[in-house]
Amino acid sequence: MAVATGTKLVYDFTEGSRDMRELLGGKGANVAEMTRVLGPDRVPAGFTITTEACVAYMEADREFPKGLEEQVEEALGRLEEAAGKRLGDASDPLLVSVRSGARESMPGMLDTVLNLGLNDDSVEGLARVTDNERFAWDSYRRFCQMFGNVCRGIAGERFEGLIKERKREAGVEQDVELGVDDLKALTESFKDLFREETGEEFPQEPRDQLRQAIRAVFDSWMGARAVEYRRINRIPDDWGTAVNVQQMVFGNKGDTSCSGVAFSRDEITGEPRPSGDFLPNAQGEDVVSGVRTPRDLHELESLMPEAYAQLMEILRELERHYADLQDTEFTVEEGRLYMLQTRNAKRPAQAAVRFAVDAVGEGLLDKADAIATIDAGRLDALLHPSFARDADYEVLAEGVAASPGAAKGAIVFTAQEAVAAAEQGRDVILVRPFTEADDVAGFHAAKGILTSEGGKASHAALVARGMGKPCVSGAGALEIDLHAKTVGADGVTLDEGDLIAIDGSAGVVTTDDVELEAPSVSDEFETVLRWADELRTLGVRANADAPEDAAKAREFGAEGIGLCRTEHMFIAVDRQPKMRAMIMAETAEDRRAALEELLPLQQGDFEGLFEEMKGLPVTIRLLDPPLHEFMPQAEEVVSDLERARIEQSGEEQELEHTLERIHSLAETNPMLGTRGVRLGILHPEIYEMQVRAILRAARAVRDRSGQAPHLEIMIPLVAYERELELMRDLVARVAREEEGAGERDLHVGTMIELPRACFVANRIAAQADFFSFGTNDLTQTALGFSRDDVEGRFLNRYIETKVVDRSPFETIDKPGVGWLVRLAAWTGREEKPELGLGICGEHGGDPDSIAFFQLAGLDYVSCSPYRVPIARVAAAQAAKAASSTS
Ligand code: ADP
Ligand code: MG
Ligand code: MG
Repeated sequence: MAVATGTKLVYDFTEGSRDMRELLGGKGANVAEMTRVLGPDRVPAGFTITTEACVAYMEADREFPKGLEEQVEEALGRLEEAAGKRLGDASDPLLVSVRSGARESMPGMLDTVLNLGLNDDSVEGLARVTDNERFAWDSYRRFCQMFGNVCRGIAGERFEGLIKERKREAGVEQDVELGVDDLKALTESFKDLFREETGEEFPQEPRDQLRQAIRAVFDSWMGARAVEYRRINRIPDDWGTAVNVQQMVFGNKGDTSCSGVAFSRDEITGEPRPSGDFLPNAQGEDVVSGVRTPRDLHELESLMPEAYAQLMEILRELERHYADLQDTEFTVEEGRLYMLQTRNAKRPAQAAVRFAVDAVGEGLLDKADAIATIDAGRLDALLHPSFARDADYEVLAEGVAASPGAAKGAIVFTAQEAVAAAEQGRDVILVRPFTEADDVAGFHAAKGILTSEGGKASHAALVARGMGKPCVSGAGALEIDLHAKTVGADGVTLDEGDLIAIDGSAGVVTTDDVELEAPSVSDEFETVLRWADELRTLGVRANADAPEDAAKAREFGAEGIGLCRTEHMFIAVDRQPKMRAMIMAETAEDRRAALEELLPLQQGDFEGLFEEMKGLPVTIRLLDPPLHEFMPQAEEVVSDLERARIEQSGEEQELEHTLERIHSLAETNPMLGTRGVRLGILHPEIYEMQVRAILRAARAVRDRSGQAPHLEIMIPLVAYERELELMRDLVARVAREEEGAGERDLHVGTMIELPRACFVANRIAAQADFFSFGTNDLTQTALGFSRDDVEGRFLNRYIETKVVDRSPFETIDKPGVGWLVRLAAWTGREEKPELGLGICGEHGGDPDSIAFFQLAGLDYVSCSPYRVPIARVAAAQAAKAASSTS
């Protein structure tokens, strides 16, 4: 898609707004919005080159689209006019930043160059006009450093190494202590490095600098770490990044200047008080890079009271304007406050929940809008463990509580080791002095992240929070030696593989094997969930087989059991022999006798569930898996048999018989073999027993408690309407035999998990009281994917090569499998308007899929008990989204 001639590729900040984020990127759109809301004096002027220009550049093989350079030149002219300075003016130069900015923020992934426009002449001019030689040279050395790194790929460490060397020679510890001569020498050495590495002189022509910087920002979109970040965060590659060119303001002009980040309220706890970090006499890069440890935002009050007060006011104003918690970047230049960025803050679940509740309390948002600010998928973290309250452990080190939740595992020092360990199923904690973009893969693999440097705005903290991983940052007492692979603290030395535990809610590190405690739901979370229940129209049930799970599900607010898998009841060790006797039976009579023994056990199971669910719906699926799953492994029997033969123990014949039976039951594709309703048709006595047990349990519970259970019997794996008809007759017959439990109270339905069932859903509906979509199997059968094989083997490659953007087992494949769901829901209801519709696959707990099920017209979703709170919130969001689109 080459851009048409005449396309506007550059927008001044005064032309944009927050609705233009697709074209201007998030940063550009919000800088424009801030310019409108706060006024042009608060936001340095500039312009944005569109994402469209970036896409055209990439498609043209890194060629600027036609008209871009002219439009940039015109915009630059307007900027020079507004600033009253000119780029490259040797006596009073205009300096600009060149900032990346994609549609979705990708913290630290894309590149930015500051102080562009300086050269050997204009640095002198800047020194004269500001009467601040140190500042001028500090800015020039920063520019050489960032330009060399960002635009020409010279490793950041090379520059850091030279700075370190210079500080040693000067006998100082902090960058800010370097004097003018040091900075001049440093700049020279940076330029030398540039020459060495590129074979070119450091560019002196500002327009050349600008062209290269724009190109570098475009290129950073396709850089390896940005590509990796997008893959993990499911951001499309073809969005491109915008480029913002903005007049510089200077936080490095001395003690009345600073740079910082500020949140409109605490971004970790959600407490209604701004929070953040800043560094005096510094530019913004220093704050986010984690190289210098920043100061708490509130210390700014005594240093620069006026700017502080203005900032507090602006944070409130922005929050009101955006109706959400804001994450901002600011600079104070000689006492004057400038806002450089704002965006809706990413936040951990506890802060999200706290914000939603407070925002309603403050009248900032209504309930539905407040709930819409919550990332439902993240709520998981609130259901994650912490250190047990009464646990007794020795604190090894303390750091910043950077991302909540607790974790423990073996120490690893690199992302690669973390990934390797995770592949072997080992729990590890990634331990590093600080982290960089290249470490991100390790975040995924690790249970938690621990760093010795950096604050709550450090890379480690941001990325960990984004992923919901526990993180302790800035644990300064730890001496991490990456070469020796050791962690020293408090006189102890830990090695790779040693156990370490972190609590990211408290900022604590220990080497004790501390017990982790399951979380409980906070009052605020309760409030959010209550509101969600008022707003949602989808029901939420849980998948549970045992009374304990049912109790958990109720505690988390499930309104019923959407899937009770009865096979789990046969797996218990004490039941296996009875189950095997049933399977081994030669005749139907023998089998009935064996089933008689299982019946009271099944009945007991159901009684427990019904009692727990107190009259709420309980959907019981009759036996689904193939019978061989209940038999011992053939290899085991073979070796038992060999032993029996040697010892002549007398068990030989029985073992031989078992082996024969195993072989006769074995199937080439058990997944597609004799399972589900096929078993019910082949061996009706099994389903008969189960139905009998269900009815007797129901009667027993009703007699005891006076409350009749709400029963739904579900037949799995139906493809033909006749299959369901046969099973329906079976249920009716057993119900007649079991007096007192009339068919009237009984709902019989089916799991919809085969494509044929979807195509003939109207015919199946004629036999069914309800459908429950088994989207795990439906995904497998519609795609011909076997889940376990696919996820282990080719799914990653499929994601890399963009065949799919995520696992179809995580989020429902809307156009394919989702279409089958819609079709079946629609034609099923056409046949029978009162047909109940639910879903009970893993997708029932996935917020994106839940939004889809809402639109497909289902009555409820059913998911694992721990995901029930997530589903309740997601369902409320889905109801709002559906009502605003219809
Ligand atoms: P990122 O997306 O990595 O945060 P930014 O483009 O926001 O990159 O730039 C990083 C930092 O550089 C900002 O937080 C800010 O402190 C500083 N910065 C960017 N532009 C300017 C500017 N025009 N004047 C002063 N500082 C700036
Ligand atoms: Mg930024
Ligand atoms: Mg199934």
